[in-house]
Amino acid sequence: MAGDQTAPVIENNPLLRSSSLQYQAPNFNQIEDVHFKPAFEQGMAEHLREIQAIVGNPEPASFNNTIVAMEQAGSLLTRVSRVFFNMVGTDSNEARRTLQSELAPMLAAHSDSIYLNAELFKRVETLYKQRVAKELDAESQRLLEEYYDNFVKAGAKLSAEQKATLRALNEEHSKLTTEFSQNLLKLSKEIAVVVEDKNELDGLSESEIKAASEAAADAGYEGKYLISITNTTRQPVLASLNNRGLRQRIWEASARRGTSGELDNRPLVQRLVQIRAQKADLLGYDNWAEYQLDSTMAEKPENVFSMLNSMVPAVVKNTKAEQADIQALIAREGGDFDVQPWDWAYYAEKVRQEKYDLDESEVRNYFEFNRVLNDGLFYTMNRLYGVRFEPRPDLPVYHADVKAYELFDHDGKSLAIFYADYFAREGKRGGAWMSSFVGQSELLEQKPVVVNVMNIPKGPEGEPTLVSFDHVTTMFHELGHGLHGMFSKVHYPSLAGTNVSRDFVEFPSTFEEDWASDPEVLANYAYHYKTGEPIPKALLDKVLRAKNFNMGFDTLEYMSAALLDMEWHSLPADAPQQDVEQFEAEALAKHGVDLPAVPPRYKSTYFAHSIGGGYSAGYYAYMWSEILAADAFAYLRDRGGLTRKNGDLYRKHILEVGNSRPPMTSYVKFRGKEPSTDALLIRRGLKPESK
Ligand SMILES: [Zn+2]
Repeated sequence: MAGDQTAPVIENNPLLRSSSLQYQAPNFNQIEDVHFKPAFEQGMAEHLREIQAIVGNPEPASFNNTIVAMEQAGSLLTRVSRVFFNMVGTDSNEARRTLQSELAPMLAAHSDSIYLNAELFKRVETLYKQRVAKELDAESQRLLEEYYDNFVKAGAKLSAEQKATLRALNEEHSKLTTEFSQNLLKLSKEIAVVVEDKNELDGLSESEIKAASEAAADAGYEGKYLISITNTTRQPVLASLNNRGLRQRIWEASARRGTSGELDNRPLVQRLVQIRAQKADLLGYDNWAEYQLDSTMAEKPENVFSMLNSMVPAVVKNTKAEQADIQALIAREGGDFDVQPWDWAYYAEKVRQEKYDLDESEVRNYFEFNRVLNDGLFYTMNRLYGVRFEPRPDLPVYHADVKAYELFDHDGKSLAIFYADYFAREGKRGGAWMSSFVGQSELLEQKPVVVNVMNIPKGPEGEPTLVSFDHVTTMFHELGHGLHGMFSKVHYPSLAGTNVSRDFVEFPSTFEEDWASDPEVLANYAYHYKTGEPIPKALLDKVLRAKNFNMGFDTLEYMSAALLDMEWHSLPADAPQQDVEQFEAEALAKHGVDLPAVPPRYKSTYFAHSIGGGYSAGYYAYMWSEILAADAFAYLRDRGGLTRKNGDLYRKHILEVGNSRPPMTSYVKFRGKEPSTDALLIRRGLKPESK
């Protein structure tokens, strides 16, 4: 078959062969944008040929000639995808963005051609039915079950007629979710608030006012001011605007978006949840939440509801206490009104200043970047796991700001390559994340090559970079994901490292966060960058206490959104179309989270995670992971904290195993029992610590 390919135009495309650098680290010195597209095309073609060879194998299906063969297939496509999608996130440019949108439908079709391949599924199903008799080892058994489930959930067991219905639903779903997210983009322009009079902006900084004036000019409102609206119910400017009427206008623009006019998202909400319910029904589930949760740690919607419901009383109690503080402040200032959603952030900020009076720039003086990295992060990982990070300046990097390291185990054995890409720059997407260039696998004889990406503003030329405590915590968080990838010790690539369910994946990262504020760790890294003095106790206490400020509100608005997401996706296929506002109100009241001053973080008409698709019946996952992290951290802290014994226990049962067994099994092996929500409530300052 090799002869009928279109001849590659690019000579010596480095992506077409595996890199000869250590652990197949990409050779960034040789990779150019023109290499991507031909490598993708060849990668998909090669993968399909490999799948065809599996299907066409005249031998009866065996675990090796089917499942293992699928694990081994597609290596070129995997290699080019990993390099390309990392580059799109960290160093985007026009050529990469264009290729990205060109690739999306091609990759979706490629995946369908595998998961809807009836002949291939027949082999998988045969093996699945014999799985107990086959005497597979536990990891192989798990892999087979995962493959089978993925095929079934994609619709492989349906009749031809049902498959046609499913494809039609999928197509409508993809069309409507695209429309939903495009409406959100259009809305963000349409609902921006125009302010005529500069006096109304009292409370904003000079630079914020300048930005608002420039934004207005760009939008054709010369001489006016434009306040843009972010995609959450709450808006950042509400914390500082003194003008109550303007605060209300801004909040209402935000909270009512997508409920009227040409960009009314309500019909999309109604139809999208109905499509999902119908799809779930077709695939044999009671509702979409059942379908989505089937392959997660939570397993069933009732487990999510009971987790959230069990926390409602403590969270509501704390939120009401915060509300009382705010109401008292309003009264002291002579205000004669009940706190409204548009007032909350404004008065909360005043309460915060009264209580903590924290100067962020003073705090940053104690968190110099290199010291945080070496004496904070790397130090902690050495104490817990005995590992060392050695700089590898000889390895090519994709940007001058990126540093390469090699990770060595406690016995001196080399484990992985780690890239640190911490500084903000143009072309890098916002936020922070971990990603892999090469995944771990014994089968493929691959060691991990992992990257951490952040957006820390770099210090001025020749001066040190000082890091906010939030960013320090995020550095620990991302290295937590990084270790999940780098400590992976499994046989099959698709079960390795961070390839776990979405309600588990944030557990290892959130777990490492809490070491940033561990007294022993702080004593090793929090020193004034000029004087070398350790951070004063009083300042540190303020930093730590301020972390939990307003946590009742934060938690409640999150939980309300998570509950709303679960309620929408608990509707059965035959439920009538719902009135969106009424459904929301009833869902919040049903769970006792309907505080008028604390609306959900997202309402249905702009709930991109939930209604937009990616995290439908999955918004709860962040909190689920945090429960595990808080419970695990509290457990180890009580067992002596920063010790090798603790680190090794956690590494062995959680970090090394990836998805090679069910996540709750791993957790119970580590912890001796299932987690409770207590540690999370204590972590967030919503419950007193019992001594
Ligand atoms: Zn994360």
